[in-house]
Amino acid sequence: MTENGSRIVYVVGAGIAGLSLALFLERAGFTVLVLERARSIDPIGTGIQLSPNASRLLERLGLEPALARAGFEPEAIDVYGFGHKKPLAEVTLGQTARQRFGAAYRVIHRGDLAQILYEAARKRSRIEIALGARNIDMVRHSRGLTVSAELGDGSIHTGRPYALIGADGVHSEIRRKFMDGPEARYSGYVAWRATLGEAQLAAHLSLDHTSLCFGPGFHGVFYPLAARQLLNVVLSTKMPAKRAFADTPPTRPKIDPYYLKRSALFGALMKLMGDKWTFWPLNAVETQRWHDGQFLALVGDAAHAMLPFQAQGAAMGIEDAAVMARQLAGADSPGMAFEGYESERRRRVSEVQALSRRNGMIFHMPFPFSIARNAGAARRGGTAQLDDLAWIYGFDADQPPRRIPG
Ligand SMILES: Cc1cc2nc3c(=O)[nH]c(=O)nc-3n(C[C@H](O)[C@H](O)[C@H](O)COP(=O)(O)OP(=O)(O)OC[C@H]3O[C@@H](n4cnc5c(N)ncnc54)[C@H](O)[C@@H]3O)c2cc1C
Repeated sequence: MTENGSRIVYVVGAGIAGLSLALFLERAGFTVLVLERARSIDPIGTGIQLSPNASRLLERLGLEPALARAGFEPEAIDVYGFGHKKPLAEVTLGQTARQRFGAAYRVIHRGDLAQILYEAARKRSRIEIALGARNIDMVRHSRGLTVSAELGDGSIHTGRPYALIGADGVHSEIRRKFMDGPEARYSGYVAWRATLGEAQLAAHLSLDHTSLCFGPGFHGVFYPLAARQLLNVVLSTKMPAKRAFADTPPTRPKIDPYYLKRSALFGALMKLMGDKWTFWPLNAVETQRWHDGQFLALVGDAAHAMLPFQAQGAAMGIEDAAVMARQLAGADSPGMAFEGYESERRRRVSEVQALSRRNGMIFHMPFPFSIARNAGAARRGGTAQLDDLAWIYGFDADQPPRRIPG
């Protein structure tokens, strides 16, 4: 790749945020080098929900046909009280979400989403992705930033990017090593992830819906990964750090047998899964600095990893990508662009982080508090619950914020 003077941007990390950023930067006229530590694009995990605020951005990058092939648009989110056979409320999605928010609410396997982003990036001649990149180092000097990295073939790359953006996830080295940022903080929650055959819980859930199932001290989220004929399962529980980070991690969620007898769904799930869970401690990032005012900035989980209880972590990273590219294209220097980026993003992201934390408390409420929660959810119904989320789903990060005249 030839570096065209001041307009090459380095992106560290080829996750959802990093690849989205590469695509938005390329669309804005930049040349991009993505430095990814892994030797292949092979994301860990199972499924992911892409709400309309994220889908609309990916659709603008021309990815709608591929997303439509690999993803699925659930008809609704069914909200269940613990042990209930019928939902308390149905939050209608499908065509309703499309009409209301102008983009799809989709669920998709992470592997498929990663491939879609990766293939799209590989087709753009101004994006290069260096897999197996390690030992990134950098020196700031009067003329800018010099970066070096060991590439997958053992050679050393040295370059002078216009800016370097860390999209290297929750444990970001760019944040910790080069921006004096904090370590990620354990939230006290863990997620247990799994996939099942699509019909294995058909007796308990609607297979064309997403299901959110409350429990005392835990909750489950279930949705179909139709293109792979799988059902995605995430069960979240609390766990002390000592156990979550023990040398031998636990192999199955610890749920009181009394509760398993009271819920046919969770009882069946635990029986089906045995020890086949993937265990995932949930960390959060709260850092004062999203950029260094000069050449370095953070997007996605590197800047603001959050609890997944509003299914918005990746969506926020995709929104960051659109805003960062627009700001870099419009500003006279990376430092000015970063100021604009942070002032557009901070408040929204912290509100979504706060909502995700609040959901953790609400979803896990024990009896008797759960009675009031369930009554509230049933009384308000799905339409009011969708109204509550319009500020998230209706948002368009690709558009500059509207200025109030005067
Ligand atoms: C159980 C669970 C369910 C979730 N569900 C949803 C959901 O439904 N919807 C949603 O929007 N979000 C969801 N999220 C959140 C979402 O998964 C994350 O927010 C998102 O994947 C973060 O993307 P990222 O690109 O910022 O980071 P990552 O996906 O972590 O990518 C970082 C990349 O950087 C690379 N890297 C790391 N260090 C270096 C280095 N030093 N040099 C080079 N490369 C490096 C890594 O290999 C990786 O490829 C969920 C999270 C969890 C845990």
